[in-house]
Amino acid sequence: MTLVTRQDVGGVSVPVDHLIGGYWVSSPQRFETRSPMGWEHLADIARGDEATAAAAVAAATRGFEEWSSLSVEDRADVLYRLADLIEAHNDEIALVETLDMGFLHESMKQRLVARGALNFRTYAELITRHHDRTWDAKGMRNQVQRMPAGPAVVITPWNAPFMLSTWKLAPALAAGNSVIHKPAEWSPLSAALLAELTLEAGFPPGAFNLVQGIGEEAGAALVSDSRVRRITFTGSPETARHIGQAAAANIVPFTAELGGKGPFIVFADADLDAAAHRAAWQFDDSGQVCLAGTRLLVAAEVREEFLERFHHNADALVLGDPRHPATDIAPLAHPDHRDRVHGFVERARDAGDVIVRGGRPVEGSLHYEPTLIEPASNLSEVVRREVFGPVLTFQTFADEAEAISLANSTQYGLSAQMWTSSQSRAERVGAAIRAGLVWANTFLVRDLTAPFGGCGISGIGREGGDYALDFHSDLKTLMILDDTTE
Ligand code: NAD
Repeated sequence: MTLVTRQDVGGVSVPVDHLIGGYWVSSPQRFETRSPMGWEHLADIARGDEATAAAAVAAATRGFEEWSSLSVEDRADVLYRLADLIEAHNDEIALVETLDMGFLHESMKQRLVARGALNFRTYAELITRHHDRTWDAKGMRNQVQRMPAGPAVVITPWNAPFMLSTWKLAPALAAGNSVIHKPAEWSPLSAALLAELTLEAGFPPGAFNLVQGIGEEAGAALVSDSRVRRITFTGSPETARHIGQAAAANIVPFTAELGGKGPFIVFADADLDAAAHRAAWQFDDSGQVCLAGTRLLVAAEVREEFLERFHHNADALVLGDPRHPATDIAPLAHPDHRDRVHGFVERARDAGDVIVRGGRPVEGSLHYEPTLIEPASNLSEVVRREVFGPVLTFQTFADEAEAISLANSTQYGLSAQMWTSSQSRAERVGAAIRAGLVWANTFLVRDLTAPFGGCGISGIGREGGDYALDFHSDLKTLMILDDTTE
């Protein structure tokens, strides 16, 4: 074991260094992470720089040799062990994430840590079940093989850090790539717990590396390193533009899962109780959810019936401490983010949009009131840009064509929700919507082998199932003339 700096976070001992080549490595500089509850100091984390990034890529380049040459069964065994370890450490991971980012603790415990384990299990299963495509044509035996691509840099955001990190790390590792994970500086702690578990799971040194630090420093250095062969990023379109430039300079494939401005369409034939209940749920996680349906588009003829039900559901939401099971709405993750969210609302007010409910930060905490805005026009900023807070807009439509037109009217295209009792309408409207994910009468549930990703400025590429494994591989076609003999 190497020496590691640890700090106590709510009774959990968390490593606060980088993990490079199987060793904990410190940095002279540190950055602090604070809790959205009371803005209390939680820990000082190693602040990686260019040298840290270079050391991590060197370690990942060495680690790649051993990890990529393991059989898929041996690789899968390590991933299964990691999944078991995540489940065994559910309580610590959930608590640390709640303290660090403000995520609802019950949700973390019941859903998101379990999903983290499932991400590794799903990819372990997928690689062991995979068969290379083989066929005879043109007098040859043709076979498509997946070659592990090399070291992969995995950059993740602050809003659901543990789940999103495992979602991206699992396919990279399953494909045989070594990884360097750079978590977000606002919520870096659960990544440290995950890195520690990889030591126990039995990854060879350098197969899994963690670099902590600031995006423009450690992150930028990692994505610019020419030894990196894949970059997979989740975050904002602004950062994706920088990363895309670095990837282009080194001719490295990259995927980007970016923001959303999802339409939430309610047709007159919908179950209005269910639709309104789900609409108020878009405030979940204080709206810090890329998939949220933040633009409520409601058939004009059911406007009042819907709004009455929506307010009834929204009135029942409890703002509070995310550690308490009764809490529905937690604080926003950071004071800068609270100010950013409020800036959108203030500008909307100034521009003549109507604040139907909420619209203010809560005094003395980082909570923001669940907010509904009726925009003056479809061109209002609050309709066109992602707020990433508990702020929804409300618009009505006259008919199906207008609903589709409004739904498709932003530059985003990550997800959409619609509520209708008609199967044929669900299929028709679903086909007309430009988004990577469209849900009818449900939300968030998804088979993990299905593709995931966005259109427009919501992203590049697809994750999920074999799509992510193909991204992390170099595909090769091997062609052998039919009459080739020993
Ligand atoms: P961000 O782009 O500010 O940061 C994301 C990550 O990129 C962080 O780890 C950060 O340190 C790093 N980074 C920043 N600058 C960098 C640079 N120049 N080079 C390399 N790395 C750099 O995003 P955020 O504020 O952390 O996350 C919120 C955004 O993420 C929202 O837009 C949200 O919609 C989006 N998001 C998308 C999905 C999805 O699956 N589509 C999921 C969650 C969040």
